This record gives sequence, structure tokens and C-alpha cells, in this order.
Amino acid sequence: GGEITFANVTFAYEPNRPILRDVSFTVPTGTTTAVVGPSGAGKSTLARLLFRFYDVQQGQILIDGQDIRQVTQHSLRSAIGIVPQDTVLFNDDIGYNISYGKPGATEAEITAAAQAANIHPFIQSLPEGYRTQVGERGLKLSGGEKQRVAIARTLLKNPPILLFDEATSALDSHSEQAIQQELRRLAEQHTALVIAHRLSTIVHAEQILVMRDGQIVERGTHTHLLTKN
Ligand code: ADP
Ligand code: ADP
Repeated sequence: GGEITFANVTFAYEPNRPILRDVSFTVPTGTTTAVVGPSGAGKSTLARLLFRFYDVQQGQILIDGQDIRQVTQHSLRSAIGIVPQDTVLFNDDIGYNISYGKPGATEAEITAAAQAANIHPFIQSLPEGYRTQVGERGLKLSGGEKQRVAIARTLLKNPPILLFDEATSALDSHSEQAIQQELRRLAEQHTALVIAHRLSTIVHAEQILVMRDGQIVERGTHTHLLTKN
């Protein structure tokens, strides 16, 4: 499951200043759609609407054919996993940081998710900045390692839809390549909407949407867009 449909969506944060105008597209189940376009085009707004930080003023957003205004907040949030580029870790061990978001997860489930994200050696470590009464100081994780914690957290919840916002990436280029491979593998098993920044995700997306001034001005596969322009 997890098919996403935007049907003639129009949205304004402020009256009389439409940000999205008549936006329509479908992300078929199990495929990846990347959204590209200049800053301010409205890409991140698509993600915020899908997660219902705001509601559309016209049109509809559907998941598996159901209007997202008709599902509970809880089931919407369990259907969508946000894979953030920058992760804030809580003052507790990495295992707890992974299990946050799925209360009641078993030890075995947490370990499996940590292994899949390749962060399991750190599962009992405390993040940097953590201080216990005995003065323990915690471990400094790299940007890539922090992101693997975030990936493990998402894997544990195993939502049908993944939302990647690459716009705010803070990764060094070394972590970047390894993470890109993991993200791609993750996306292959889910329905994925990527606010794209990196060429690699664009190349691997089944569909690319080009946005400008709140509208989709072009759409197609990577090859299709390359040969057209
Ligand atoms: P992108 O992700 O393509 O850079 P955004 O979706 O973040 O674009 O923003 C699209 C437009 O909406 C921009 O003009 C931005 O200034 C405006 N915008 C974003 N968030 C808000 C907000 N909370 N209130 C008013 N305008 C906003
Ligand atoms: P931009 O794409 O312009 O950098 P962000 O994606 O950082 O903007 O987020 C802009 C707004 O979207 C935030 O002020 C917040 O209201 C909302 N938002 C984005 N991600 C989250 C999140 N994970 N939790 C809560 N609010 C969020």
C-alpha cells in the first residue's frame, strides 16, 4: 500500500497568496517520485501537506484512495516515515533513540532495525553531551552515524510511505555515499516521495516532478527529461 495522490491541490499559507496551484500527481505504490525545482517553488510544502501540518484549501490528498482528512492523526503518522537529514538525539542510549516512535518495541526488533541500518555496534552507547551522575560523557557520532540512527528508527516503524527532505542535508561527502546507498535500498521497498537535492536520488526515481512557482511545469523519467531539454 501507500499510493499517494495529490488531486488538483491548491494551497496558501496566507490569504490571497497561493503557494501551490492546481497540483496533481500520483506516486504509485512501491515507487519513488523526486521533486525538483528552485528554492521557494513549493517542494517542502508538498511534504508538510502530506503530513497534515496544514490542510489544503482546494483539491484532495489521498493515500490508497482515502482522503487524508478522513484518517486519524495516529494512522496518518504511522503510515508516513520521515527520514530527516539532521537528527537530534535524545539523552539516552542509541537503542532508546531508535525505539522512540514505536513504544513497546521488543529488544529483538530494535536490534534487527539497528543491524539493517548498520548502527548496531553503538546500540548501548550514549550520545555525546549525555552526562550521568558518574560523569560519563557519551560518544560523538558522525553525521552519517546519526542519520543511520534515524534510518533505524524509521525501519523499526516500517511505514508504507517514506518522505525524504534532502533540502537541509548536513552530511559530509564521505558519509554521503554510504548513506545514499542505504536510502536507495530503503526507498526500493517503500512508496517514497523525495524532496530532491542530489542527483543520485533523481536518477533512481521512477518519476520526476519539476516545480516552479507552485506548479508542476514538467514531469517524466530522468531520461525523458534529459532528452527533452
Ligand atoms: P521549497 O521547498 O521549494 O524551497 P517551500 O515549500 O519551502 O519551497 O516554500 C514555498 C513558498 O512558500 C516560499 O515562497 C516560502 O516563502 C513560502 N512559505 C513557506 N513556509 C511558509 C509559512 N509558514 N508561511 C508563509 N509562507 C511560507
Ligand atoms: P525548509 O524546507 O524551508 O528548510 P523545514 O523543512 O525545515 O523548512 O520546515 C519548515 C516548517 O515545517 C517548520 O517550521 C515546521 O513548522 C514544519 N516542519 C518540518 N518538519 C517538521 C517536523 N519533523 N516536525 C514538526 N514540524 C516540522
